[in-house]
Amino acid sequence: MKAFYAEEQKRHDPKAFLSSGAPQPNPEKPERIERLLAGARSAGLTIERPGNHGLGPIAAVHTPEYLDFLEHIFARWQRIEGASAEVIPNIHPIARNGSYPASAVGQAGYHMADTACPISAETWNSALWSAWSAVEAADAVMAGAPSAYALCRPPGHHAFADVAGGFCFINNSAVAAQVLRRQATRVVILDVDLHHGNGTQGIFYTRPDVLTVSLHADPVRFYPFFWGHADERGEGPGLGYNLNLPLPRKSADAAFLDTLTTAFQRIRAFAPEALVVALGLDAFEGDPFGGLSVTTPGFSRIGEAIAGLGLPTVIVQEGGYLCDALGDNLTAFLTGFGGKQG
Ligand SMILES: [Zn+2]
Repeated sequence: MKAFYAEEQKRHDPKAFLSSGAPQPNPEKPERIERLLAGARSAGLTIERPGNHGLGPIAAVHTPEYLDFLEHIFARWQRIEGASAEVIPNIHPIARNGSYPASAVGQAGYHMADTACPISAETWNSALWSAWSAVEAADAVMAGAPSAYALCRPPGHHAFADVAGGFCFINNSAVAAQVLRRQATRVVILDVDLHHGNGTQGIFYTRPDVLTVSLHADPVRFYPFFWGHADERGEGPGLGYNLNLPLPRKSADAAFLDTLTTAFQRIRAFAPEALVVALGLDAFEGDPFGGLSVTTPGFSRIGEAIAGLGLPTVIVQEGGYLCDALGDNLTAFLTGFGGKQG
C-alpha cells in the first residue's frame, strides 16, 4: 500500500491548549508524525510525497471566506497590539445568525470553535500539505490501487465547512471523499477516531451521496459535546445518511467490534463504491485522552473487519496522541487491513 506525506506537515507546532480551563501543552505535536511514519513503514508501506493540488479540492468542501481566513489570519493577528503569539479566539457567536465580522478578533471567534486549534505562521502551509496527502491517496485509489494511506497531520475531522476546531483546520477526510465522488456515485466515510467526527458530519449533513458513520466515545460527557448523538441522522435530502454510534466510556475491543458490525449493516445497505476511513488511533487504552480502551491487537481486528467490506479505500489519519504504542497501533491497523485485503 502506498502512503503519502510531505515534510511541510511537520512545521505546524501549536503550543497552547486549554483543558478544563487550564493551560496545557498542546498534544497535537509534530512528533506524532515520526511515530506514525515508523508505524507505516513497519507495516511495509512506502512513503511518497504528494503533489501540490492547489485549492480546488479543498474549496470543494470549505467556504471561500474560511480559506481566506486560514491563509491570512496569522499575519493580520500580528498587527494587533498586545496580541498572543498564536491566533486563539476569545469570543464566539453563540448562534451563527449574526453579522460576519470584519475584525481579526471577530473572525477568529467566528471561524474557530475552541482553543485547541491555535494558528501560527506555519499552520496554513502544513494544513494544505496535509490535505494534499489526502488528495493524492484518493487519486491513487481512483487510479486503481485497492487502498492508500494518507498521513494527514494536522488532522481534519473536527473542521466544518467554515470552522476549525479540535486540532483541525482542513477536513482531510471530507476532501478525500469529495475527490472520490468524481468517480464514485456513493462514498462512505467511516470514522473510528475516539472523538465524534463533527466537522465531517456537518459538511455532508444534507447530502445523500456521502454517508457519514462515526463510532466514538459518547459525547454526553466528552468532546465535542454538541454533536455525535444517536439522534443526529441528517437533514433534508441527507436524512438517514448520517449514523452516530456513541460508545460508553472505556469500551474495549469487543464492544467496538460489535458496534462496527452495526455500522457495516448500514454501509452495505448504502452500497457505496468507495470508502474513506477516518483513522483515529486515540480510542487506544493508553492514549492520553483515555476515552475508550481499544488494545493494539484490537486495532488489527478493526483493520481486518473494515477490509472485509471489500471497497476501494482511502485511509486518512485523524487523531492518536503521543504514547509508546502510537506507531504500533498504526502498524496493527494497517497489517490487519492489508492481511485481509490480500
Ligand atoms: Zn480524536
